[in-house]
Amino acid sequence: MPQITDFKSFEALLPRVRLGSWPTDVMELAPPQGRRAPASLWVKRDDRAGTVYGGNKIRKLEFLLADAQRRGAKRVLTFGVAGSNHVLATALSARSHALDTIAIMTHQSNSRYVAKNLLMQLHAGADLHIYNNERLAAIGSRWQRLRHLRRDGVRAYPIPGGGSSALGAVGFVLGGLEFATQIAAGTLPAPDVIYVALGTMGTAAGLLLGLQAAGLATRVVAVRVVREDIGNRAGCLRLANAARVLLARHEQAFGELELDARRLVVRDEFFGRQYAAFTTAGQAAVRDFAADYGLALDGTYTGKTAACMLADARAGALVGQHVLFWNTLNSRDLRPQLLAQDYRRLPRPFWRYFETPVQPLDR
Ligand SMILES: *Cc1c(COP(=O)(O)O)cnc(C)c1O
Repeated sequence: MPQITDFKSFEALLPRVRLGSWPTDVMELAPPQGRRAPASLWVKRDDRAGTVYGGNKIRKLEFLLADAQRRGAKRVLTFGVAGSNHVLATALSARSHALDTIAIMTHQSNSRYVAKNLLMQLHAGADLHIYNNERLAAIGSRWQRLRHLRRDGVRAYPIPGGGSSALGAVGFVLGGLEFATQIAAGTLPAPDVIYVALGTMGTAAGLLLGLQAAGLATRVVAVRVVREDIGNRAGCLRLANAARVLLARHEQAFGELELDARRLVVRDEFFGRQYAAFTTAGQAAVRDFAADYGLALDGTYTGKTAACMLADARAGALVGQHVLFWNTLNSRDLRPQLLAQDYRRLPRPFWRYFETPVQPLDR
């Protein structure tokens, strides 16, 4: 199989803005003990990807925002639930490159991070619109597009939910290649398996392709944390292939690469009742990671993913293996900016996230 060793060559061909400092660190953790323990446990610290705001959306936005600039856009238009990490990452990153953000949102379960993210979105100057269902949101999105086209004379640049277009996934192809260089440098052993959350799929899809492009045989265990029509195995493979086709225009080796679908495993059993509804297993994993490793995870994405990994370790499924947890959550401290914000400056329908109780497992 052709192997991509020098990605600097095609990296130069794809416009990219700088939002993060690369590579992100890898850190070794003490694996869960016992006779059937993994050989090693590592974490990839994408939580510190951006200097202001970390998490997995930063890698995608480096390519998406460059494309928006290349097209002369003044604003980006994106989608998410109230308090979405993706909308927040987009608003902060876009603003740092002189682009405004319009966000089309729908309601979701209440938890403490939703209120925090909403205040940060306010701080980032995002133009927030919320709708009661996806049909109304689609109408709202058309209206906002027209309104801003008339006002600016150029289209607002659309960024899909989660930033998961083929171009967004390219950010994680590069993430996979970056990770491979850390292995080649002897910083960590090549993992047998990587655990990562599966949402809008750009992260897992890009990683799957990037690892294979680098010639690694690592399995990607993608833990589904969204409805199955949003995140699923077939969709993830399609997205990985779309990113491959896009990259093949710049680097021939991607044209010749055949994705090995067997390396992608999608896990459904840690999802729980619905998106962003915390689970007992997920919250136990959040507590374990905080107590054992000093790492803060969340109930929506990374806690459920860690729960899957810990359950597999306990079941003896990871004996003797090198395991890596790809941390997709932001860990940059937002408190200083939050103190200055008043939720009553948000449109009224958002106030419920400040005035009604959070879900019981988040108390
Ligand atoms: C968005 C998000 C994910 C999911 O990534 P996708 O690329 O949408 O699958 C995982 N973890 C966190 C913390 C996120 O915000």
